[in-house]
Amino acid sequence: MKVAGRAGRIVPSATLSVTATAKAMVARGIDVVDFSSGEPDFDTPEPVKSAADAAIRAGFTKYTAVSGIEELKLAIVEKLRRDQGLTYDTSHILVSCGAKHSLYNLAQAFFEAGDEVVLLAPFWTSYQDQILLNDATPVVLETSESEGYAVTRHTLEAVLTPRTKAIVVNSPSNPTGAVYERSTLEDIAQVALQRDLLIISDEIYEKIIYDAQRHISIASLGPEIAARTVVINGVSKAYAMTGWRIGYAAGPNDLIKVMGNIQSHSTSNPTSISQKAALAAIQSGDVFPNEMLVEFDRRRRVMVERLNKMPGLHCRMPAGAFYAFPNVASLFQRRHAGGVVTSAADLATYLLNEARVATVPGEPFGSASHLRLSYATSMDAIERGLDRMEAAIRQLH
Ligand code: PLP
Repeated sequence: MKVAGRAGRIVPSATLSVTATAKAMVARGIDVVDFSSGEPDFDTPEPVKSAADAAIRAGFTKYTAVSGIEELKLAIVEKLRRDQGLTYDTSHILVSCGAKHSLYNLAQAFFEAGDEVVLLAPFWTSYQDQILLNDATPVVLETSESEGYAVTRHTLEAVLTPRTKAIVVNSPSNPTGAVYERSTLEDIAQVALQRDLLIISDEIYEKIIYDAQRHISIASLGPEIAARTVVINGVSKAYAMTGWRIGYAAGPNDLIKVMGNIQSHSTSNPTSISQKAALAAIQSGDVFPNEMLVEFDRRRRVMVERLNKMPGLHCRMPAGAFYAFPNVASLFQRRHAGGVVTSAADLATYLLNEARVATVPGEPFGSASHLRLSYATSMDAIERGLDRMEAAIRQLH
């Protein structure tokens, strides 16, 4: 069957497909340690589940307003004020079926053929495919590991053209774990102002940030920056609610309105019950995310220390999110019984087959030299998986 041209431009989400392969191996009885998954291993907090239960019992099971229920939008407005000092009203908020859906609505509303959108590599894989699906062109700006994946005004300006329409900022970052300094955000904001760019600020890992740092939203740098920024966030990562599918966008109300129109012809409202659950989560504040953070921090240190002891690997300490992103390029050209490792993708395949450890290769994130390992899994799995990974890496010659 001949599918639409736009569908031919994209590939399935690499992270989801590695996770699916690992799960299929487990279903066949193979003991796989899964470092591929991008979701907290914690259960959704009890009060959130109770709110969903209560919603079901109360018959809150019908369509809602497309853009989300008023009380949830008000809670989001209040959260953005409390946490980031941002000033919105509910006309600036669109609730969608996960942050990925929020980003998708935005891509549909804002990009068209001929537009260029700047991605700072390494980047979260779906940005690229969403841009391509909407006929625009991703312009990839490589950032450097040794400089903490930061971008400067100068390097950013070098990739802009009259067709550049937007830049995607993702701090804390998936996959690198980098958290941008205020000065980096100021540089990006200045360039966006001068060149009339939209800033898409994906802040989904906002609550997972270590060493007593505080998250800074680029939109908080001033009203003129907020007016050209769409903040994307949601409850998936902060409240262990990946399956509930609630994300949101906050931004200029004309753009938010168009995104809502698009949503009205695709999913309609996000699930009514999940909206009540998300309301309970957002109103509960930082207690739950902070509990997870303590545990993620412990695992982060163990994983990074162990990766750095493996021959040929070098891993920066991530400042946020829950991924280690070791550089594995020194292992390229090493051999194993089945062939030669020539890329991160080869190494990930070798590790899955030989060590039964699932990792995500860097290529779909725009980096050929790295693997991504999630430490949103138990300490026991981390120890076991890293033992096996180390043994497999030591076998390379
Ligand atoms: N943005 C980033 C950087 C992510 O890593 C993810 C999930 O992996 C999302 C957005 C999507 O989150 P959601 O589950 O709310 O769709």
